Amino acid sequence: MTPVGTSILVGIAASPGIAIGRAWPLERRAVRTPKRKLAPEEVEPELARLRNALELSDLQLAEVREKVERAPAAAGSAEHTAIIDMHRMMLKDEMLVLEAQRLIREDRLNAEWAVKRATRKIKSAFHEQADDYFKERRADVDYVGERIIKNLLGQTPDEDEVPPDGAIIVAHDLSPADTALLLHERKVAAFVTDTGAKTSHTAIVARALEVPAVVGVGRITSLVDRGDWVAVDGGRGVVVINPTAGERADYEAARERYLEEEEALLRTRDLPARTEDDVTVRLAGNIEFVEEVPSLLSHGGEAVGLYRTEFLFLGRSELPGEEEQYRAYARVLEALDGRPVTIRTFDLGGDKLPAGMRIPAENPALGLRAIRYCLRQPELFRTQLRALLRASVHGNLRVMFPMISGVAELRAAKRHLAEVREELKRDGVPMKDEIPVGIMIELPSAALLADRLAAESAFFSIGTNDLIQYAIGIDRQNKDVAYLYKPLHLSVLRMLKLVADAARTAGIPVSMCGEMAGDPVNALVLVGLGVNELSMNGPSIPLVKRVVRAARAADGRALVERLLSLTTADDIEREVRAEMHRRFPGLLESEGNIGPAGG
Ligand code: PEP
Ligand code: MG
Repeated sequence: MTPVGTSILVGIAASPGIAIGRAWPLERRAVRTPKRKLAPEEVEPELARLRNALELSDLQLAEVREKVERAPAAAGSAEHTAIIDMHRMMLKDEMLVLEAQRLIREDRLNAEWAVKRATRKIKSAFHEQADDYFKERRADVDYVGERIIKNLLGQTPDEDEVPPDGAIIVAHDLSPADTALLLHERKVAAFVTDTGAKTSHTAIVARALEVPAVVGVGRITSLVDRGDWVAVDGGRGVVVINPTAGERADYEAARERYLEEEEALLRTRDLPARTEDDVTVRLAGNIEFVEEVPSLLSHGGEAVGLYRTEFLFLGRSELPGEEEQYRAYARVLEALDGRPVTIRTFDLGGDKLPAGMRIPAENPALGLRAIRYCLRQPELFRTQLRALLRASVHGNLRVMFPMISGVAELRAAKRHLAEVREELKRDGVPMKDEIPVGIMIELPSAALLADRLAAESAFFSIGTNDLIQYAIGIDRQNKDVAYLYKPLHLSVLRMLKLVADAARTAGIPVSMCGEMAGDPVNALVLVGLGVNELSMNGPSIPLVKRVVRAARAADGRALVERLLSLTTADDIEREVRAEMHRRFPGLLESEGNIGPAGG
């Protein structure tokens, strides 16, 4: 049902950009499975129907694959063809085919019902069963099952109904194959889905290919019909259904502005992030998946400053093995083509673990997580270290340990690395000789011990997301204390200074990879502190670069001195904002990055 008036929905801002267009709902979940008992003489013809539907499904997927390969948008197409190949393998898998045949023959179920039951069984068997590709993607099993059922029912395959240019795709959720095809055909203006998170596959691919997306909207599919006007603001997570003519014009204008600003920012892509007084800052990207690399590079990223490898576990029922990890790391290293890639070992623990492996804890943020978890599970840790060392020949690898609290922990982690290196050497496995090994500084204890840690680390990377949480004692997920989450709290600033000074004295580079690094308002302060690398989401890079290029490091140093003489976070913030207004009038206002000084 379409509502008569305009409605505004708010979801998760998954991929920035503005789009206005006609809705194109994909009804992926709508297939209804008829249930029927077969008469004995119907069994053989039913088996033939199943065979035909499987063959047809395979043919369709072969066509999809060809389209993706031919599509002009090359970014990410290797991942997508791999996913489609996986779907085709599923169509031939014994677990699916033999089980469906058995249900038809023995239980005399109609083919649609048999396929439904077989896919359900596969999903519930995830934990025990060893077929790798089935284990990987629950959603894919559903998707393949639905395709077979639709073919049995004689329904048009979804992708045959190609959305018109500029359509806004609206769906309950999207399978990786949907996303692949829709994006590679370059027909789509935006995505809006009921479910999903910032880290779901659709969101990542949308960001990588720079298509606006809002996910987790909740009920968009029940509110729009094909052809309804929809406006999407992917940067703010806002979706307007049936906007008035005036609102449409406003969104059109906002879209033009957005595109102009993007273009202006991207003009600096190949220019160095060097201050007027010749201090160079490396601008790097934080990634969770290899698909994010093209967007990082297109925004002028010069390195990967943080690869959060724990995302390899996302949605999985068990841990990725050495081979799979090796391939993932090698792909990122190769994609960066010799530029530095800092790969962080698993920051697992608490609820960042496959369901069966969770250990209940009262305070997971203070519990067995990150390096503590890895040292407690040496097999898991060493598997990752082996994969990393093997991948080192594919590029410019730096290994980083998270949540280091002191020197003993760093030594223990490095001992594992050295032992794994010896093992691999004995086996004649090629590896890079020199791999810088550094640490995250995200615990106050590490900040206070920065001088000692610097003596045994090749680099530091400051994780302000956690450092602030632990320094001020506020759960970073808790809305009630979010008002205390102040990157410019004097306690934080003092720690940043301690860390930057210790790194400089020891002659090691210091990076920052928490969210603080990507906020252009902080850029002058961070340059002033002497941070050598800022690592952030790809799309944040151009604006930070603009500030760095217009800044003088000497002014940054003077600003830091002044800030350290102030007391409250509000006073410090106000001073930073005032300085930014003075030094860069007009530079940040259009982006909405400098509002009035906070109270
Ligand atoms: C941090 O703590 O600042 C950080 C970058 O790590 P994560 O956000 O993954 O905890
Ligand atoms: Mg952290």
